[in-house]
Amino acid sequence: MTTMTRAGTTVRFEHIDKSFGDHQVLHDIVLAAPGGATTCVVGPSGSGKSTLLRCANLLEVPSAGRVLIGEEAITDPGADVDRIRTRVGMVFQNFHLFPHHTVLHNVTLAQQKVLGRSRDEAVRIARSHLASVGLARLEDRRPEQLSGGQQQRVAIARALAMDPEVMLFDEATSALDPELVKGVLAVMRDLAGRGMTMIVVTHEMRFAREVAQQVVFLDQGRLLESAHPTEFFDSPRTDRLRSFLKQVL
Ligand code: ADP
Ligand code: MG
Repeated sequence: MTTMTRAGTTVRFEHIDKSFGDHQVLHDIVLAAPGGATTCVVGPSGSGKSTLLRCANLLEVPSAGRVLIGEEAITDPGADVDRIRTRVGMVFQNFHLFPHHTVLHNVTLAQQKVLGRSRDEAVRIARSHLASVGLARLEDRRPEQLSGGQQQRVAIARALAMDPEVMLFDEATSALDPELVKGVLAVMRDLAGRGMTMIVVTHEMRFAREVAQQVVFLDQGRLLESAHPTEFFDSPRTDRLRSFLKQVL
């Protein structure tokens, strides 16, 4: 069904509105996250960043508008949401690992259940991703025996083991002690460098400046600016972004 190359899958938000009851939290969001590039989303707490990100894999269903993953409209009635969702990996602030399973089991479970891989194949793929995030020797531990940074890297390995075309990160480092942030950002930076399409909600402005090809500012559910990081940080066009950057930089 899809003919996009893996590294090149663009995510398009086309006029997305989202309301919870009578509270409209996203207003006519139009955004393309280009294939193979990193798009960072920044903005104040409550501005709709998580909601927008969650619309990209239908964890939230938009009230209006369309979301396309490559050429496929995930929001169309009749879309095979479960299958399309396997194309979009997501990493959350609080890791969302299964606490009673080992690291290895955390990374093999969905491969077997959702993709139908054999146990051997799932283990082989899990080990290669655990090695790539620097956790080769920890596969028999349970999440509580790991640091937050290690747990988050397990969550990233788990998402990558599903061979996603797009990775979504929702404040992946916000729950971590400062000394653990670096290792997780390094993994994300590496992934970006290898051409993964990424949408990254973050407060790490340095990461946004150095890694992103596009930075987007959300404020009160509206997309106020989107630009290359140099322009975004050095020449903000709106007073809202200028004052936001003053607070966070
Ligand atoms: P951010 O990630 O930028 O902090 P969110 O997307 O989490 O913002 O939230 C945007 C707005 O939507 C907030 O006012 C929040 O309270 C509201 N909201 C988010 N999720 C829900 C929900 N499931 N039910 C009701 N309101 C929600
Ligand atoms: Mg959020």
